[in-house]
Amino acid sequence: MTSYTELGLVNTRELFKKAVSGGYALPAYNFNNMEQMQAIIQACVETKSPVILQVSSGARKYANQNLLKNMAKGAVEYAHELGCDIPIVLHLDHGDSFELCKDCIETGFSSVMIDGSKYPYDENVALTKKVCEFAHSRKDYVTVEGELGVLAGVEDDVSAEHSHYTQPAEVEDFVKKTGVDSLAISIGTSHGRAKFKPEQCTRTADGILIPPPLRFDILEEVEKRIPGFPIVLHGSSSVPIEYVHMIEKYGGKLTDSVGIPEEQLRRAAKSAVCKINIDSDGRLAMTALVRKVLTEHPEEFDPRKILGPARDELKKLYSHKNVNVLGSANRV
Ligand SMILES: [Zn+2]
Repeated sequence: MTSYTELGLVNTRELFKKAVSGGYALPAYNFNNMEQMQAIIQACVETKSPVILQVSSGARKYANQNLLKNMAKGAVEYAHELGCDIPIVLHLDHGDSFELCKDCIETGFSSVMIDGSKYPYDENVALTKKVCEFAHSRKDYVTVEGELGVLAGVEDDVSAEHSHYTQPAEVEDFVKKTGVDSLAISIGTSHGRAKFKPEQCTRTADGILIPPPLRFDILEEVEKRIPGFPIVLHGSSSVPIEYVHMIEKYGGKLTDSVGIPEEQLRRAAKSAVCKINIDSDGRLAMTALVRKVLTEHPEEFDPRKILGPARDELKKLYSHKNVNVLGSANRV
């Protein structure tokens, strides 16, 4: 059994308090390999931003939990070596059972999400409460994120055909009964790189899809009912059109890609939204650069020459998010 404190990690409690009162959101970036980890830490050290490193159950299967845990430990030391001890959280993204959450907590995660949003309300409450009781009874206090409302889209092992918005009338009761430390809500964000069907969007003259706006009215209603309580947004990639075009230019095919405009996320980050999950944008940046290098240098076969430029682009993307979208830069 490992405590996250032994790894040099922190939970989200103090970080969320500061983020809510400071009007910014923490970045929650998913990782499952070394290049992603390097890009995240380099960007967050340079912009002096706290960071949440997210591991999905798909990432655990792909990369092995022990390797991921030790990469997080290495990330703490790497940040120190780069000259800034930024606070680092290791978080389980979309835990789907008590056992999975328990396992992660006992191997050194400092925060877990229990996603019971696919269950009826009472079952979601019971499951979330069980995880909270276990996580909070530990000496090191592991923080827990719950979810109310269902996001559409596909993300690793999580997929839903239809979304439904969070019902503000339920949030107060849910938070009180479960004891969660933060709550993911559904206000129109969505998992994946094709967040909306074309018929849900409008199109610009050059054919670019414009998604329906986020439901800020629901967010405001939630904030009224649980003032200052940390809110989380999943599925918040913006799907930059430059990356989509680059991928298609070099042979890829990503029909009807559409994300959440960055100015809407910036607006959300100024509210009680204190954690914003971004995964697809990183995938797009890496894929765009890998395709470019392989097309322009067909003789290349050194993985470092292929993944290195992808890593650099990823770092640029994360720095931009911290500074211009989340507002988490210079908060350390
Ligand atoms: Zn998610």
